[in-house]
Amino acid sequence: MSREKLKVVCVLYDDPVEGYPKTYARDSIPKLEKYPDGQTMPSPENIDFTPGQLLGSVSGELGLRKFLEERGHTFIVTSSKDGDNSVLDKEIIDADVVISQPFFPAYLTADRVAKSPKLKLAITAGIGSDHVDLQSAIDRKITVAEVTFCNSISVSEHVVMMILSLVRNYIPMYNWVVKGGWNIADCISRSYDLEGMQVGSVASGRIGLAVLRRLHPFDVTLHYFDRHRLPNSVEKELNLTFHDSVESMVRVCDVVTINCPLHPETEHLFDEKMIGLMKRGSYIVNTARGKICDKDAIANALETGQLAGYAGDVWFPQPPPQDHPWRSMPNHAMTPHTSGTSLSAQARYAAGVREILECYLDNKPIRDEYLIVDGGALAGTGKHSYSEGSATSGSEEAAKFKKIN
Ligand code: NDP
Repeated sequence: MSREKLKVVCVLYDDPVEGYPKTYARDSIPKLEKYPDGQTMPSPENIDFTPGQLLGSVSGELGLRKFLEERGHTFIVTSSKDGDNSVLDKEIIDADVVISQPFFPAYLTADRVAKSPKLKLAITAGIGSDHVDLQSAIDRKITVAEVTFCNSISVSEHVVMMILSLVRNYIPMYNWVVKGGWNIADCISRSYDLEGMQVGSVASGRIGLAVLRRLHPFDVTLHYFDRHRLPNSVEKELNLTFHDSVESMVRVCDVVTINCPLHPETEHLFDEKMIGLMKRGSYIVNTARGKICDKDAIANALETGQLAGYAGDVWFPQPPPQDHPWRSMPNHAMTPHTSGTSLSAQARYAAGVREILECYLDNKPIRDEYLIVDGGALAGTGKHSYSEGSATSGSEEAAKFKKIN
């Protein structure tokens, strides 16, 4: 039996400054049959969008409007999510379902959860549900679901790009060309080869393992730390050294890539003390979550040279205010939160959100691998990868962001 008429509130990032695209750089995206571990692709009964088009911004609407409105549900899409009088705060009061993307998160704090008594389902269009106060979701028996694996490979590609960009000093080189220079000495005075370096991953889940696999052909020595050890066959295949603590791993690494979820156990894991254990001149690439690193400790370590470079696409809060130290610290290669929202990834997470909604609306079970919280407890992927509690404190700072057009 289908559910009664529901109100679905969806928070998406703004359209491009020049307007919603009329044409695209490519005519199609590759069609993938399955994920690397055999997990099946999102499989909704139908989709109402063209894969490869911009779905993650407000006009893209994740391709959901026709589907929801034909079934009689109310669908509100907005990018107004922070500060007093946001559309989200106004609409969430009687919302049954909230959809949000980690790139531009609708922080579902304890306060917002308390103000939305009808809320039953929070869907993350992507991976990483730390923008939801999971403890409140557990207490209120709100189901939290995300589209596991949808953009894990997208992120792993971004990580490899950023490691190479930092170690080889790519961005300053590009800037010299744009400025009209031919300043080879300026460009290479911080440029090294990755070959022969010690590279370690914090976590070896879907992204972490994909990063390790992609780095293996670069003739580096690979290390990892995780709460659960990889199968022996994988350790052998990639010649991985397992460490039983992050501290042990960072001491020996030249490059550290962070690929664990943000939950109370990992919040501010990379603080002054942890960074102090690293070799002078190490690099950190963090595409997991901004709050896993202490923002001031990172900026200070770049100033002193303890870190030779820092890159990533995740910040806290998002969007970060103009005076966030990561915008202006030296030797960084930050992007906005984009690694998991390539046009390729969007097609998968839009289809995954549609699949979750189809299941929910028809009272069918949501795949276990998509569940983070269900029935008042961590469930499915959430049970494996998260811990109880909340990592949303401080998110109100996102209201300080001022748009630049
Ligand atoms: P997975 O669930 O596949 O992997 C997460 C891994 O982290 C698991 O192996 C888990 O270990 C491990 N882990 C959990 N806690 C700790 C800890 N305290 N120390 C070390 N390892 C830990 O998720 P993905 O690899 O797909 O994604 C990982 C994270 O990356 C997401 O949670 C999200 O925050 C971020 N992400 C960022 C994106 C972006 O656009 N920048 C897009 C997608 C994800 P175990 O389960 O063995 O306990």
